[in-house]
Amino acid sequence: MSRECGASAGVIGRFAPSPTGPLHLGSLVAAVGSYCLARRDGGRWLVRIEDLDAPRVVPGAADDILRTLEAFGLHWDGEVLRQSRRTDCYEAALERLRAKGLVFDCACSRREILASAPHAGEEGAVYPGTCRGGLSPGRRPRALRLRVPEQNLCFTDGLVGPQEQHLATAVGDFVLRRADGLFAYQLAVVVDDAASGVNQVVRGADLLASTPRQIFLCECLGFAPPRYFHLPLALGPDGEKLSKRHGAVSVQAGAAPSYLLSRVLAFLGQPVPPGLAEETPAELLAWAAAHFDAARIPREPGLLSL
Ligand code: GLU
Repeated sequence: MSRECGASAGVIGRFAPSPTGPLHLGSLVAAVGSYCLARRDGGRWLVRIEDLDAPRVVPGAADDILRTLEAFGLHWDGEVLRQSRRTDCYEAALERLRAKGLVFDCACSRREILASAPHAGEEGAVYPGTCRGGLSPGRRPRALRLRVPEQNLCFTDGLVGPQEQHLATAVGDFVLRRADGLFAYQLAVVVDDAASGVNQVVRGADLLASTPRQIFLCECLGFAPPRYFHLPLALGPDGEKLSKRHGAVSVQAGAAPSYLLSRVLAFLGQPVPPGLAEETPAELLAWAAAHFDAARIPREPGLLSL
C-alpha cells in the first residue's frame, strides 16, 4: 500500500502540546516549524492541548504553554481544543471501528506482553496477538486493541522522504483504550486532526514511528490522512533530546523571546538576517513565515545551542 499524503488548497496546520510542564525548547521547535509552514502558504494554525493522559497533566501547565506561545507571537486561529473534553468523539470513533470488527478486548498486562513478546519492534515490545482470537476462560478484559494487517504501510514525509513500516511486525495490534479507561494518543490524535480539518502535521521526528499507525487509523475511519513533516530532533549539550530537563522557555524572560526564536529559526535552517535580530518576536515570525524554506531544514538531529 502506498500513498502520497497530499493537501492542496487551504493548509490547516496545528501544534498539539501535552501539558506535562511548561513549554520547553524542543516543543518550541515544533510550534515554530508548524506555524511557519502553515502561515507561509496563508494557512490556518490551530492549537490543541493534549491533556488526555490525566495522570501526567500538570495543573496550570496548559495555560502556561498558551501564554508562552502568545509571548512568542505564535497566535493561533479559533478555539483551543482540549482533548479532555472530547471523550465522546473518541468513543464514537471506537464504536465505528468496533462495528467493522477491528477492535478486540485484551487481557494482557504489560508484564505478560514483555514476557511473551517474540521480539522488540521500533517502539518496544510488539504485541504478540495473545487475545486476538478471543479471551481465554477466566481472563478479564483490560485494554481495547486495533487489529492490524500483515502489510507494509508506506507514505512520503515532506522532510524525511519515503517511509515504510510493516505494522504487524513493527508494533502489532495497538491499544485504542488503555486498561485505565483512557483513550490512547494514537486514536485521539487522528480523530482530532480530522475533526479540525487539519491537513498538515509538522512535529518532531520522535513521532515518525507513530505515523503509520495514525495513517492506518485514518483509513479505517475513512479520513484523508494529513501531509506529514517530521522535524529533526533538537539535542541538548549532553547529546540527549531536548526535554523539560533542559529547561522551560519562560515567559518572564524579558527580552529572551526574540533571542530564543532566532536560535530556533537558525536550528531549522532559517537564520534571521542580522538586521532583524533586535526585532520583536512577532516581526521575526512574520519574516520567518514569509521566507520559510522547508528544503533548508536539516534532516539530521542537531544541537540547539543557546
Ligand atoms: N502531544 C504530543 C507531544 O507533545 C504531540 C502530538 C502530535 O504532534 O501529534 O509530544
